[in-house]
Amino acid sequence: ERERLARLRHTPAITLDGERIELLANIEMPDDAPGAFKAGAAGVGLFRSEFLFMGRQGHLPDEEEQYQAYRRAVLGMEGLPVTIRTVDVGADKPLDRATKDEAHLNPALGLRAIRWSLADPAMFRTQLRAILRAAVHGPVNLLIPMLAHGSEIRQTLSLIDFARAELDNRGVAHGAVQLGAMIEVPAAALTVRMFLRYFDFLSIGTNDLIQYTLAIDRADESVAHLYDPLHPAVLRLLADTIAECRAQGKGVSVCGEMAGDVQFTRLLLGLGLRSFSMHPAQILAVKQEVLRADAGKLAAWAQQVLTTEDPAALLLAKG
Ligand code: PEP
Ligand code: MG
Repeated sequence: ERERLARLRHTPAITLDGERIELLANIEMPDDAPGAFKAGAAGVGLFRSEFLFMGRQGHLPDEEEQYQAYRRAVLGMEGLPVTIRTVDVGADKPLDRATKDEAHLNPALGLRAIRWSLADPAMFRTQLRAILRAAVHGPVNLLIPMLAHGSEIRQTLSLIDFARAELDNRGVAHGAVQLGAMIEVPAAALTVRMFLRYFDFLSIGTNDLIQYTLAIDRADESVAHLYDPLHPAVLRLLADTIAECRAQGKGVSVCGEMAGDVQFTRLLLGLGLRSFSMHPAQILAVKQEVLRADAGKLAAWAQQVLTTEDPAALLLAKG
């Protein structure tokens, strides 16, 4: 089976009815990039930059260290696009600095991701400058996690402008980036039109979108049986987000675990998804599903899955 999959490495990911599907890699460290490239990824759909920040006893990476790391990731992908997500610490990814200071009762609902970044604008601009500088070396997409409010979007965009101006003032080279937002909070999924006024593309973080839609802590084993990617509410938010992006000609991908789980490939194709980002080890298995799929037929079937009370049963029946 492994060998059979390995032969798919250079096969383009195209459905039976000719839809080209983008299969991207999720990475955690710059040195993961060459492996993602070798696995046949069409780019990095999610570089979780927080792994550069974690476990450092409060000593955060400075602009130069971050720039070198992002540059290494960009060079490692040899000209393919790299989507760098700004730091997403807090909740399931604690920074020791944050946990030491205060114990929060509901860390997933607290100061995490973009909230954490906006609480320390100088630190955030340091990261933004490093990413903008790395964009000189290849195509870079800048992705912002966990946005929910229009005010957060506007603050973020003005800090990006500020970071660019700082580099200009210092005479330091920086590159153009595509700007993206993660859709991980139901409030964001329900206001996708607002997001599309500001962003070039969206990336749906189903790990958190499921957690926040169903009020299930993604790290709590005692409620793991209720963590259901196929809950009709989750599917509705996914379907509408994908449809709105497509209607406006904007890029949309899924970068949560759902994207790398072959159980869900056909459903996501049927919902109109054409870009999937996953652990590099999953790329060939998902590609195999894509090669066997007829996206047109799956679209009609997916509409049924969306309206049934028991989507899992229809999924097992395989459309
Ligand atoms: C997600 O929430 O689906 C996601 C991709 O982000 P993370 O798992 O890093 O929170
Ligand atoms: Mg997330």
